[in-house]
Amino acid sequence: MKIEEVKSTTKTQRIASHSHVKGLGLDENGYAIQTSAGLVGQELAREAAGVVVELIKSKKMAGRAVLLAGPPGTGKTAIALAIAQELGSKVPFCPMVGSEVYSSEIKKTEVLMENFRRAIGLRIKETKEVYEGEVTELTPVETENPMGGYGKTVSHVVIGLKTAKGTKQLKLDPSIYESLQKEKVEVGDVIYIEANSGAVKRQGRSDSYATEFDLEAEEYVPLPKGDVHKKKEVIQDVTLHDLDVANARPQGGQDIMSMMGQLMKPKKTEITDKLRKEINKVVNKYIDQGIAELVPGVLFVDEVHMLDIECFTYLHRALESTIAPIVIFATNRGKCTIRGTEDIVAPHGMPLDLLDRVMIIRTLPYSKEEMIQILKIRAQTEGIQVDEDSLSQLGEIGVKTTLRYSVQLLTPSNLLSRINGKDAISADEIEEINKLFYDAKSSAKILAEQEDKYMK
Ligand code: ATP
Repeated sequence: MKIEEVKSTTKTQRIASHSHVKGLGLDENGYAIQTSAGLVGQELAREAAGVVVELIKSKKMAGRAVLLAGPPGTGKTAIALAIAQELGSKVPFCPMVGSEVYSSEIKKTEVLMENFRRAIGLRIKETKEVYEGEVTELTPVETENPMGGYGKTVSHVVIGLKTAKGTKQLKLDPSIYESLQKEKVEVGDVIYIEANSGAVKRQGRSDSYATEFDLEAEEYVPLPKGDVHKKKEVIQDVTLHDLDVANARPQGGQDIMSMMGQLMKPKKTEITDKLRKEINKVVNKYIDQGIAELVPGVLFVDEVHMLDIECFTYLHRALESTIAPIVIFATNRGKCTIRGTEDIVAPHGMPLDLLDRVMIIRTLPYSKEEMIQILKIRAQTEGIQVDEDSLSQLGEIGVKTTLRYSVQLLTPSNLLSRINGKDAISADEIEEINKLFYDAKSSAKILAEQEDKYMK
C-alpha cells in the first residue's frame, strides 16, 4: 500500500511576516501586557480580542463575526492570528484578501467556500501499529549504483530502537531513510515508524505526515513484531480543504488517510460540491463515532470592502451553518459604496444586516517607540543585527510612512550591510535603501503632484 504525503495547504508565506506573534499577550484578568507573546501596544484592541476569544470558547459567537477597523499597518492581521493562537495550538488560520474572489476561472462563492474549508480543522484519532523507541543507531547501507552509473545508492537502513524492554535492530526500506532525513532524526531522538505507511515521526517535534514505504516489495524484510512494536493512538490535524484536495486527486490520492480513503470512490479529479458533501458525510460519521473532532479555526478576510454584495450574501448565510469558522474581517475604509450595488453607501462598504452581526474592534496608529519595539522583535526573529540608533531611525521612517514599509527595509538593509562587510545594519544602509524605494504614501503624493506627466 502506498501512502502519499498529506501536505498541509496553509498559506504559509502570508503569515511568515507574523511568525513572532504567539498569542494576545494578556494577563490572567484579560488586560494586555504592553509587550507580550510577540505583540506590542494596541492594548485596547488586544483586550477586546481577548473578550472575543472568551465568547468563542463559551460558544457564544455563533452567527457572529469580528471586524478589525483601522489604518494600514496597525496590526490587524497580527491580532487575528493571535486570536487563532489563543484558541489552541493546532487551530487553523486562513488569511485571504477580499480581491482574491475575482478570478476568471473560479466562481466567487467557490473561492469563499474553499477558504472556509481551509479554516475548519479536523482532529482525527487513529489507532495505528507503530515501532517506537529511542534511536540508538542509524546506519544507511550503501551498494554500487545498480544502474551502472557512478556513485552509490542506499539499499537499506539499519536502525536501533530502544525501549524500556530492550533494543531491537530493524532493517528498513531506503524510502524510510529519506523520511528520517527529512525529520532530521538523529541518534538519541525518540521516534515512531508507522507499520503500514512507513511514516516516521519524531516525537513532539514534527507535523509532517506520511511518506511512501512499500512493505509489499519482496526485497525488504517486513518489520518484526517485538518489544518496539505496539498499538498507538495517533492524532492527525488536517483541514476540510486538505481532505477535499486529497480526495480529488486523479489516482493514488484517495488513500492519503487510510481511514478516509476507503470511503471515497476513486477517480475524482475536481473538488465539486458533490465531493464536499461526501466528505462531510464521512466526517460527520467519524465525529458521531468519536474518532474525529471538529476544530473551527479563523478565516481572516482582509480588505473586506473589496467583496461584493453577492459575496456578502453568501458569507452571511455561511456564518449560520453548523460548521463555520470564526470569521474576522478587516478594513481600513470608512464609508464607501458596497461593491455590486449601484449606490448603496455603507460603513466599511459592508451591508448593514451583516454589519449588525459584527463586533467591531478598532486599531490605532503606533507611536515611534512602539514601532521601534516591533522592529526590534522582527529583527530578532529574522536574525538581523541592528544597532539602537538605526532602530530609532527606522522608527522615525515608520511614523512618516507605515510600519510595514519600515519593517520591509530590514531585509534589504541587512543584505547591503553584508555587502559592505558589516555584521550589523547601520544608519548608512538604512539611508541608502530608503532612498531607493518609495513607500505607498510618498508614491501616491508624487503621482498626485505630477499627474500630468503620466499616461491616463
Ligand atoms: P494590518 O493588517 O493592519 O495592515 P498587519 O498586522 O498586517 O497590519 P503589517 O503592516 O504587516 O501589520 O506590519 C508589519 C509587521 O509588524 C508584521 O510583521 C506584523 O506582524 C508586525 N506587527 C504589527 N502590529 C504589531 C504589534 N502590535 N505587535 C507586534 N508586531 C506587530
